[in-house]
Amino acid sequence: MRPYGKIGANSVHGVSVTASFITRFAPSPTGYLHLGHAYSALCAFDAARAAGGRFLLRIEDIDRTRCKPAFEAAIFEDLAWLGLEWETPVPRQSDRFDAYDAALAQLRARHLVYRCFKTRKEVADKVARAPHFSADGPEGPQYIGAPLDGAEENKLLEKGAAYAWRLSLARAREALGGDFSELTFHEEGRGAKGETGAIKATPEIFGDPVIARKDFGTSYHLSSVVDDAAQGVTHILRGEDLFAATHLHRLLQALLGLPTPRYRHHHLITDQNGKRFAKRDQSVTLRALRDGGASPADIRRRVGLA
Ligand code: GLU
Repeated sequence: MRPYGKIGANSVHGVSVTASFITRFAPSPTGYLHLGHAYSALCAFDAARAAGGRFLLRIEDIDRTRCKPAFEAAIFEDLAWLGLEWETPVPRQSDRFDAYDAALAQLRARHLVYRCFKTRKEVADKVARAPHFSADGPEGPQYIGAPLDGAEENKLLEKGAAYAWRLSLARAREALGGDFSELTFHEEGRGAKGETGAIKATPEIFGDPVIARKDFGTSYHLSSVVDDAAQGVTHILRGEDLFAATHLHRLLQALLGLPTPRYRHHHLITDQNGKRFAKRDQSVTLRALRDGGASPADIRRRVGLA
């Protein structure tokens, strides 16, 4: 079932393709691609080639304040220079807010989400005061809240107060019944702690996660789960820093009736001090390396894929 639209026709040059291996690279245009991105993109591209499958791109630009068209253009240029080929048109998440709204509406209709008007600081303070809440979930505090009562909520709404939508773990548990504790995903690579094989999903590590942010009405989690389904992705290859997020993605798939891809998380490429690259490390951007005379083969060698 894919209730949120399907992206792209399954045909290449008019020939229908029914690949059983469809993967994607989903960068955010918030800076220039660096060696870490090159590794991730090449892993996915090589895996699709090896499986006789399809390699897709997706531009993850829901955060309009941090994403820049110039970085998007640079992504295409850098990936083409690396030797990657992908199907077009490339979906851009900023064009797909309707699909995320539809998914959120489904969760709202089933009372699986509630409005949260709290600021980050209020959430952190509340967690600090509640010994049973942990402050170190994958995204910080494992906050668990509840909907406000109707009158209080209406007052805030009338005032135009901003709110996020949080997924209620308790409601999700109720909605899925016994299936909640049976949720698993298959890890063909490794998580940051070496997790591999059949993994039991433990979305409770997030507390009640924000799945639609105050500032842009969706979240990385909701939009990427909806889009992986819409693009028919069967295998997700990405960095092990996103392994923890998979626990929540698996729950969202179950609640939204979406298929569960297989996962292949990979290690992160680090510098000689073992520090992972960040977008601010200008010296390892693909354009800086290219300007310095590196070839695509040099990049492959540097990330250990030669
Ligand atoms: N847009 C994310 C990033 O640039 C990747 C998300 C994913 O692969 O699921 O880190």
